[in-house]
Amino acid sequence: MAESGDSRRRAHYLAALGIEEWLPRRAPAVAVMSPDAAPAWQQLTDEVARCTRCELHRTRTRPVLGVGDRQAQWLVVGEAPGAEEDRQGEPFVGRAGQLLDAMLRAIGLARGQNVYIANILKSRPPGNRDPAPGEVAACLPYLERQIQLIRPRLILAVGRIAMQNLLGTQGSLAGMRGQVHEFGGLKTPLIVTYHPAYLLRKPEDKRKAWEDLKFARSVFARLA
Ligand code: URA
Repeated sequence: MAESGDSRRRAHYLAALGIEEWLPRRAPAVAVMSPDAAPAWQQLTDEVARCTRCELHRTRTRPVLGVGDRQAQWLVVGEAPGAEEDRQGEPFVGRAGQLLDAMLRAIGLARGQNVYIANILKSRPPGNRDPAPGEVAACLPYLERQIQLIRPRLILAVGRIAMQNLLGTQGSLAGMRGQVHEFGGLKTPLIVTYHPAYLLRKPEDKRKAWEDLKFARSVFARLA
């Protein structure tokens, strides 16, 4: 039988992760944003567009609020916009973004459909340096408001910076993998994995990232 377009695409995503395994998923529920949330999203979008809470507003081209399904059950949180994200105003659009998309596809998620993608910072730190503590303190309330609006069932923190700032820890990413943590007052389950930019530099760790993604998928399947 001829290979379908779907299975070819699937093989491509998994190849990007350096893995061969594939388990079919159930179809995601497609949700439409409640009209009640629309004004709050508009206000948040406007505030972030005008934000001058930290010095990064002076050097950014565009703020990057986030992208995706605003009623998604999955929320992916990265670090901060890079050069391409700063130009386009969308998170994870560069090479790391392509790998992130492949990682999400491997567990049945698609950008813009059943997952929302955001960062700890909405503005690009010059030279892609790590976010400064004052910048995180200024920006994190925006992400918290996004989480209040989206109410995801699971947060996937990608990379050390997202993990440390969401969990308020200085621990290593390696030490926090394979466990279900909680974020914020809603106690949203949170799982950590490697940042795709790190995986591009260290492809031998893609296997561990795949373990994390399978773990996240199994935790999600068990959530009420
Ligand atoms: N890295 C991140 O953490 N976020 C982006 O949006 C792009 C690259």
